[in-house]
Amino acid sequence: MIITIDGPVATGKSTIAKKLAESIGFIFFDTGAMYRALTFGILKNQIDLSDPDTLQNYLDHFQFDIKVFHHDRHYFIDKEDVSKLIRGKEVTSSVSKVSAIKAVREKLMAIQRELAEGVNAVFEGRDMGTVVFPHANIKIFLTGRNDVRAKRRYDELTSKFPEETKELTLEKCLEEITKRDNYDSTREYSPLCQAEDAFVIDTSDLSIDEVVYKILEYKDTIKTKRPS
Ligand code: C5P
Repeated sequence: MIITIDGPVATGKSTIAKKLAESIGFIFFDTGAMYRALTFGILKNQIDLSDPDTLQNYLDHFQFDIKVFHHDRHYFIDKEDVSKLIRGKEVTSSVSKVSAIKAVREKLMAIQRELAEGVNAVFEGRDMGTVVFPHANIKIFLTGRNDVRAKRRYDELTSKFPEETKELTLEKCLEEITKRDNYDSTREYSPLCQAEDAFVIDTSDLSIDEVVYKILEYKDTIKTKRPS
């Protein structure tokens, strides 16, 4: 069975997907981390995005891996553990540009579909329910008010990177998330959008547990309609 969770920045997708997966014994995949890891590799290797052959050559050869240590996921690109680095400013400001490239999406979509073979999994991202798994058993789309999402992003970044975020403000966070959401939802290939058959949850005034509970309730109601 495949459950997809899509939505804009800071709607709680990863935390909710992880908690949901743990509660029902599914595997959880954060596909944003995959786009971030690939972006890190592209930046590190100074791959020229305007040169399709160089980019394709990198896409044909890069090595991506996910390992779980003490319940925490670690992301590896070309054998380097980049789990912390992929959350940094440089990757965040370039990831949408890299993710908009068709060849990049095709490569990661193939990896994501391969990871889904024969397993029960929750996949979280932007185009999981629309493009990668259009026949997913359950599709969730999370939303949230801009002010709430900006505050969540601010809290996340200041607790993860206290030194680097001394100058960060709520306004800057709002600007960053709005810019990234606009870019992600207006790109030509696999834009961020709600699948027609997705169950929409506004997470603004709900706790993580409340959202997970709503999804579990929905899962029970839909079980009879869509076979796994
Ligand atoms: O989820 P997260 O904010 O870490 O995602 C980082 C970026 O990766 C997004 O802003 C988007 O550009 C890209 N992404 C994507 N498709 C996905 C997941 C993430 O384009 N399925």
